[in-house]
Amino acid sequence: MRQIIHVHANQPPHWVGNGFYVKTLMNHLENRADFNYSHTDPFLLLDYGEPTTFAPNPNYDSQPQGMGQHPHKGFETVTIAYQGEISHADSAGGHGEILEGDVQWMTAGRGILHEEFHSQAFGQYGGVFSMVQMWINLPKKHKLTDAKYQSIKRADMPVVKLYDESYENASHDQDSITRLNALGTATIIAGECRGTIGIASTFSPVNVWDIELTTAGTTTLEIPNTHNLMILVQQGSPLINDSLVSAGSLVQFSPARLNVLDASDVLGTLEIDNTHATSDTIMLTYPTASDSEETQSPNDAPIKILLLSGEPIGEPIASYGPFVMNTQAELKQTFRDYQTGRFG
Ligand code: MN
Repeated sequence: MRQIIHVHANQPPHWVGNGFYVKTLMNHLENRADFNYSHTDPFLLLDYGEPTTFAPNPNYDSQPQGMGQHPHKGFETVTIAYQGEISHADSAGGHGEILEGDVQWMTAGRGILHEEFHSQAFGQYGGVFSMVQMWINLPKKHKLTDAKYQSIKRADMPVVKLYDESYENASHDQDSITRLNALGTATIIAGECRGTIGIASTFSPVNVWDIELTTAGTTTLEIPNTHNLMILVQQGSPLINDSLVSAGSLVQFSPARLNVLDASDVLGTLEIDNTHATSDTIMLTYPTASDSEETQSPNDAPIKILLLSGEPIGEPIASYGPFVMNTQAELKQTFRDYQTGRFG
């Protein structure tokens, strides 16, 4: 079983622009001893906007709520709209809306200027807004790829049904599986879960799974041991590997086990052998009433979890704000390009 090494407690929220009220649960710039980028690679940043009620905005046309034009270069931004809607527009003429449940997987690559706001409909009526935005690094060889979007509809995402294994723990033959109780679902945004392949295309191996547990029980998931692994608990209080975790926490697991072949590259790039990768297991439990009695945290609603795992890219990064390059020289050049308008 993959060990939990730290549970990062709930963080106070802050505003991004005037539309996104988020908790930054992970940031590669915070080089903490217990949680540095080598433990989260290829994930650079994770912002979570808990469900927050917004009033209607009568000035939407002149003052939409969100983030005005800003650049990104060298990585991908992945936005999940759980509740509410986001509209976006960019310097290349692209625009669109991320509707409730949908995902936008944006590859900034060699550079893009864009803006992100509440959608016009959401601005008009207001309501509950909840989202995640994560930043995923690009490998050196893909950093300067063309910018692109993947607009992924919730209805197009494959779903893996999860069953309670505590009932018939040992046996997985067909007869016993049909007797297992439904426990919940894992919606596979990216990666692979039990042979089901997620819909997003990625530049390095990444799992992004939206998990919902609706009744009491336990399920076991397999994650490659070559992946770094984190779990965000969005709602409810699950047991993760038998430890109770409260909503708003980011669970950090022991880092990926990598077989490094060659660390002598001039950039310090690691050559990684993943040909002998195996799987680690993690256990997710929706506690029963008796479990909860001890812990004083009954669940009367679905438990919602976002699982993120990925194979470390293992390359050095030189970053500042929305620019994530490999060397200081590349970073300086990126600033020069941005200041002289040669960007995006
Ligand atoms: Mn952005």
